[in-house]
Amino acid sequence: MAKRVVIALGGNALGNNLAEQMLAVKHTARAIGDLIEAGYEVVISHGNGPQVGMINVAMGEMHKANPETSVIPMSVCVAMSQGYIGYDLQNALREELLNRSITKSVVTLITQVEVDPNDKAFDNPTKPIGRFMTKEEADELVLKGYSVMEDAGRGYRRVIASPRPKRIIEMETIKTLLDAGQVVIAAGGGGIPVIAKGNHLSGSGAVIDKDFASCELAKALHADCLIILTAVEKVAINFNKPNEKWLDTLTVAEAQKYIEEGHFAKGSMLPKVEAALDFAASSVGRTAIITLLEKAKEGIEGSTGTRIVGVDHESK
Ligand code: ADP
Ligand code: MG
Repeated sequence: MAKRVVIALGGNALGNNLAEQMLAVKHTARAIGDLIEAGYEVVISHGNGPQVGMINVAMGEMHKANPETSVIPMSVCVAMSQGYIGYDLQNALREELLNRSITKSVVTLITQVEVDPNDKAFDNPTKPIGRFMTKEEADELVLKGYSVMEDAGRGYRRVIASPRPKRIIEMETIKTLLDAGQVVIAAGGGGIPVIAKGNHLSGSGAVIDKDFASCELAKALHADCLIILTAVEKVAINFNKPNEKWLDTLTVAEAQKYIEEGHFAKGSMLPKVEAALDFAASSVGRTAIITLLEKAKEGIEGSTGTRIVGVDHESK
């Protein structure tokens, strides 16, 4: 049976603006094309930091210029980022597969992800988004009920919560598409955060970390492998210090120990290692790999990257 792989794409797979994104997705499509050609069954997820910030700014400016237009909620901005990034990825990957004479459809699925309204992250919004503001603009937003923080001396920015994903709403659809042999792009930007109120799902003003959402996706799909593609080939302990050490294979226990020792930066490497650990520990035979986009195939085949291996590997 084909190995099922969830690929989580980081910022460098997408670039920071439209021109960069259109170029970056070509490289990304090549790396994913290599995996598909090698026989892996892939599901793709991606981040949306720069893109959702850009959309949020654009929507904010639209409302400022024309106050009669709606204030666009963050959940809708995340949905827009899924569509915009999914379009570019889907377009590039389709072309890449056709060039390799692989007849597989590529589909982007607008994905909602349930979050817990009591998640502690809602009490402590920390993720800065959107444009920089003056103190006066910031005070005005606070009066409207938004959270705002001073951002490293550069001005004020809106900050939002980053709650943990609980459940991917469209999971059955993702499975169905995958079983039909299609290449699926899902849970983009961590998914659109929603809160369940009976049968109604209400959009939440948050952005879920794509590393955690990708882990949920990989677990629910019973994937063999979660591969988190980022800007470094391997994970290090003592990162950027004279005694820096790049890691090859880690057991769940070792990864846990390094997390506790504080080797991984919050908001960048820490969520990746936490997500990788969670996936590897979730069931027998699951492996998580963190590596560079360009090294995806070598990473899966075991010749590079940092891998976190689960229980059965540990006992060998
Ligand atoms: P992505 O867009 O892929 O989510 P991030 O910038 O959020 O990428 O996270 C990757 C970055 O994490 C790396 O480029 C590196 O600078 C940083 N980093 C922090 N701690 C570590 C560590 N211990 N080992 C390797 N990289 C680390
Ligand atoms: Mg990141």
